[in-house]
Amino acid sequence: MKDNLHIKSSYSMIEIGDIYSVGLANLIDEKYNASRIGILVDENTHDYCLDTLLSVHPKFENAEIILLPVGEENKVMEVCFQVWEALTEYNFSRKDLIINLGGGVVTDMGGFIASIFKRGMDFIHIPTSLLGMVDASIGGKTGIDLGSYKNQLGLINHPKAIYIDPSFLDTLPAEEIIFGYAEMLKHALIRDKNLWEEIKFISNDEDLTSKDLLNKSIKIKVDIIEEDPLEGGLRKILNFGHTIGHGLEGYYLGKSNLAHGHCVALGLCAESYLSWQKGLLSKKGYLDIENCIRRSFHFISITAEEITEILNLIHNDKKNSENKIKCCLLTGIGSCVYDQVVTEDEIANSLFHLNLLASSVN
Ligand code: NAD
Repeated sequence: MKDNLHIKSSYSMIEIGDIYSVGLANLIDEKYNASRIGILVDENTHDYCLDTLLSVHPKFENAEIILLPVGEENKVMEVCFQVWEALTEYNFSRKDLIINLGGGVVTDMGGFIASIFKRGMDFIHIPTSLLGMVDASIGGKTGIDLGSYKNQLGLINHPKAIYIDPSFLDTLPAEEIIFGYAEMLKHALIRDKNLWEEIKFISNDEDLTSKDLLNKSIKIKVDIIEEDPLEGGLRKILNFGHTIGHGLEGYYLGKSNLAHGHCVALGLCAESYLSWQKGLLSKKGYLDIENCIRRSFHFISITAEEITEILNLIHNDKKNSENKIKCCLLTGIGSCVYDQVVTEDEIANSLFHLNLLASSVN
């Protein structure tokens, strides 16, 4: 269909548009006609998205539907074991296909499950959350958590195709749209000042989920991955906001369960504050970011004891090396540097600053 968008990528076919016309049915006919198909969903995408997918191709009527429990606390090995056992029981082979229909939890875990099963079978992502569409489904990172450590187990392995149909967002709760906005803000902050100016005031779901904005945001990630697929250098900037964001998310996992997108938004604010404190970002730039985050997200109170525990988690972050905490920092709005050494005290100060914002603005 003419208003579908195709994003050029060396690793996966990426199409944005109506799920009936993005080419999924053709791909099944051409490549997976003789394959068995497993569709991974969580409880919400089972209820809200599965019927639409099943009507795309007659073959899907015979697919094995594998239901995953909802939420980050279930992005764990125990659930993977159950799915691998189910695939074994269903006699799935390496020639068969897994379709991951869901948010970032389903695509991260489903990609991991497919990549490991019988040393790897093909998989397709159909992201249904905004965060999944602009970020989690793109770039081939698959994985699961280990206790409080986010994405501690995983591998980079790309799906054959990623089909992004914004109409799946019609049933996504408004709060979840805002969590996806956090990753869109990240993409703009690290690479595209114009996009930042375009989206920093948006609060309207419809504008935020337009195909044009999805396309711009996804392209930033895809272009970075084209340059550095294995995260030897540049790709690390996609982790801006995530050193502190993952520390917060890991700490609250199983307690108050702060959503990934919410933690990323707080991490963007804290790491922008760090960038300012270290003389890389202007105060004006920092305040612009703080104001934007404040408009859409609430700050949380963090006690001194919690900061100590969050720091312990941050010490084990994947981006660290030589026993130093390494972080991405902004050198301006639209530009970011990676592998910046930050001290525990600097991180603690940025967390105290978040706490101060919670007491002053909420
Ligand atoms: P999620 O998968 O938990 O989805 C959020 C909520 O929305 C869930 O309750 C889900 O059931 C529901 N949902 C999804 N689509 C829906 C729809 N269309 N209608 C109604 N409800 C729907 O979380 P998320 O925010 O999508 O993703 C967060 C995860 O993504 C985290 O685990 C994070 O680590 C991961 N992530 C991975 C990458 C990567 O590069 N692999 C990048 C960013 C984030």
